[in-house]
Amino acid sequence: MKVLVINCGSSSLKYQLIDSDTEAVIAKGLCERIGIDGKLTHQTMGKDKYTVDAAMPDHNAAVKFVLDALLDTDKGAIASLSEIDAVGHRIVHGGEKFANSVVITDEVMAAIEECNDLAPLHNPANLIGIRACQAHMPGVPMVAVFDTAFHQTMPDKAYTYAIPYEYYENYKIRRYGFHGTSHSFVSKRLAELIGRDIKDTKLIVCHLGNGSSITAVDGGKSVDTSMGLTPLAGLPMGTRSGDIDPAILEFIAGKEGKSVEEITTILNKKSGVSGLSGVSSDFRDLNAAANDGNEIAKVTLEAYAYRVAKYIGAYTAAMNGVDAITFTAGVGENAAWLRPMVAKYLGYLGVELDEAASQKACGVEGIISTPESKVKLCVIPTNEELAIARETLALVK
Ligand code: ADP
Repeated sequence: MKVLVINCGSSSLKYQLIDSDTEAVIAKGLCERIGIDGKLTHQTMGKDKYTVDAAMPDHNAAVKFVLDALLDTDKGAIASLSEIDAVGHRIVHGGEKFANSVVITDEVMAAIEECNDLAPLHNPANLIGIRACQAHMPGVPMVAVFDTAFHQTMPDKAYTYAIPYEYYENYKIRRYGFHGTSHSFVSKRLAELIGRDIKDTKLIVCHLGNGSSITAVDGGKSVDTSMGLTPLAGLPMGTRSGDIDPAILEFIAGKEGKSVEEITTILNKKSGVSGLSGVSSDFRDLNAAANDGNEIAKVTLEAYAYRVAKYIGAYTAAMNGVDAITFTAGVGENAAWLRPMVAKYLGYLGVELDEAASQKACGVEGIISTPESKVKLCVIPTNEELAIARETLALVK
């Protein structure tokens, strides 16, 4: 079967066509600047990658370009749309309504719409993407896979905020967590890699990318995670601040005469390792700057590694132990130099990094702790598109 995975942003649309039998990517691409002008980048595996400017006034037009690219006799991947058996949509926020992926119906669409408040930039775009696909592929089963669903197993002690309870009752303000598809996929693989039944394991998944979050997975279930009501919470990220004293908002507002919206934008787009270092949001640039003697870049990386280690400590306490910890996503998978900076805080757990194994495990899976290490340290590449394709297939089969 062939599953089309769609990830719609407000002005972008990423897609992958996946062969569910071999789990190989058949074709993938990206539409950018939707609603502005429009650009499509497409590659069918084994053929040349190309980019074209294409007028995309809305997501409907973008989906049409994607399908035409897939159908192209020269550079395409399929002869007919009937070859697409199902479509899996990444949905950012499922609120408390969705603890699992679901087949998309009118009721599901309405329920996703009710969560728009919680993710005003993402959910409306996700819905537009679903409607556009429905218009062009009527009758093809579609599945919604939520970033928040995996974390719905968190207990109330982990998801409640210590603010007046009526805010939870009235507006559902609580911790939801994100990157759930990745944390679920990677934790399952981590249990396999260490040869354990996931039901009997305590795992910590460090998803360190441009967006970063850490999750405690006890017995296969998320019991706590670092992102919150929105993806702004937790670790410092490429451009997001992560956890800060909430009183800082009023303080900056008073000093600079900025509105709450303006400061929230600064916390989302101009903070994190980019804001702190003044160098870049990209960890490769930061490492290069630190190696060149840039002191604030060094401090930024130390601050980042320190916070990763603090979350690991907190989640070890939350689960009363930990069997294995894994790094994943762009930074976690590739930045071998970051791992000793984190591991140096974990000696009390009996963690012993195997530096040579860690150097080898760049962009590939591996156990990077010594055989004597009491807690296993690993690298597992995440694959959110494949996880979405698997979820989709499981529901439409
Ligand atoms: P997203 O959150 O956008 O999905 P990714 O998981 O793809 O992000 O991670 C992107 C980040 O990974 C980049 O910003 C970059 O800092 C980092 N990265 C990618 N390759 C490397 C590398 N070789 N060394 C260090 N960092 C890397």
